[in-house]
Amino acid sequence: MKPLVVLGVVVAAVSVFALLGRPKVEAPESQSAEQQTKTVMNFDQTSPKRSDKLVLSEDEWKARLTPEQYQILRGKGTERPFCGINLEDKGAGAYHCVGCDLPLFKAGRKFNSGTGWPSYTEPAADDAVWYKKDTGYGMVRTEVLCARCDGHLGHVFDDGPPPTGLRYCINGTVLKFVKDSDSR
Ligand SMILES: [Zn+2]
Repeated sequence: MKPLVVLGVVVAAVSVFALLGRPKVEAPESQSAEQQTKTVMNFDQTSPKRSDKLVLSEDEWKARLTPEQYQILRGKGTERPFCGINLEDKGAGAYHCVGCDLPLFKAGRKFNSGTGWPSYTEPAADDAVWYKKDTGYGMVRTEVLCARCDGHLGHVFDDGPPPTGLRYCINGTVLKFVKDSDSR
């Protein structure tokens, strides 16, 4: 009799521990900040294979873009904050790439981050942008690039608002606003 009682107690204890232990495994709260950072850095870092890819020579890019657009889009430059280009809310529509006209960000996903750069919680589509690890200026950041022309747009950070928690910090100089009624 005794060994069976002991076995019963052990089985009951193991069951209780298994039930109590489960929520802890599912919600590792102390790791959330670290995990979000990893999530950003774990974005696929290869240019999406699009059938509408735009590849031009440097001379062709210079002819197509203004010097400011060229410096940011092709030279990975950064505009001054609060320079005002595409910073304010313009109503319903989408922000397209000035290099290739691909819709990059929807107006409904724009928010005021206070940084002085246009900010969005997500791209217009999963295959609209891609990412590269950027270790320039003594920082580790995630660069955001246009998926059609591979132009530099800005960076993405993990301190954005819900629902994604992401902040796409984009140079307004390389965005062109297209109203919903005009976008077809
Ligand atoms: Zn583009």
